[in-house]
Amino acid sequence: MSSEEVVERFKNAELVFRKSTGKRPTGSLATFLRKLDQVIKRKQADVPCNGCTACCREPLLDVELTDAEAQRLKSHQDEKGWKLDKQADGSCVYLIDNRCSIYAERPVTCKSYDCRFHLLGTPISHEMTTLIEAVQEWEPFKLPTVEDKIANICIGLWVIAVKAGEVKRWKDFWPQAEKLYYAFQSLSPAEVEKFVARYGQQDPPAIKAVG
Ligand code: SF4
Ligand code: SF4
Repeated sequence: MSSEEVVERFKNAELVFRKSTGKRPTGSLATFLRKLDQVIKRKQADVPCNGCTACCREPLLDVELTDAEAQRLKSHQDEKGWKLDKQADGSCVYLIDNRCSIYAERPVTCKSYDCRFHLLGTPISHEMTTLIEAVQEWEPFKLPTVEDKIANICIGLWVIAVKAGEVKRWKDFWPQAEKLYYAFQSLSPAEVEKFVARYGQQDPPAIKAVG
C-alpha cells in the first residue's frame, strides 16, 4: 500500500461510537501505551477498576482457561476450549457479593484483561451492554504531547489495517502498533510535525461495537 493510500484511509476512517461519560480519568495515550508493553509481558493488567465488576458480570464475556486452570476451577468445555462457569444471571461463578472470591488465584485471562483496550478500537459485541456501559465510563485518552499525537495516529492506522482486513488478530494489537509507533519516531521532526498538524488532533478511536 502506498503512503498516499495509507493517508487516504486514515483520513476517511470512522473513528467511532463515542458516548464517553468521562467519569473515569484515563490520562495520556502515550503513557498508557508505554505501561501496556510491560503489562502484556507480565500478563498482569493494572486497571484502576475502583469497585467496577462489569467484565465479571457480562453474560456474553467468557473467561478462557488453560488446561491447568480448568483442573482447579469450576469450568466447562466447548468447541473453543475451557471456560469458567457462570451463575444463572450470567455473572462469573466466583463473583460473590460483587467481589471476586478467588482474586489472588483468578485465571490469567482475568489478570490480563484491560477494558481500556476497547477505547483503542478493539472490537466489542454490541450485545455486551454491561461491558459497553463500563467502557463508556472512561474519558477519551488525552493527547497533550507530540508523542501522544503520534501514538494516536499509529492506533488510527492500525484500526484501519484491521478494518481493511489486512490484519486479523487483535491479540497482535500492541506489537504491530508499536512497530508503527517506532516507524513514526524515525521520521524527521519536520515530517512528524506535518503529520501531527494534519491528523494528530483527531480523537483516538473509541469503542467499536460489532456483530
Ligand atoms: S470492566 Fe474494566 S473497569 Fe470494570 S472491572 Fe472490568 S477491567 Fe475493571
Ligand atoms: S474469576 Fe474473579 S476476576 Fe475473573 S471473572 Fe470471575 S469474579 Fe471476575
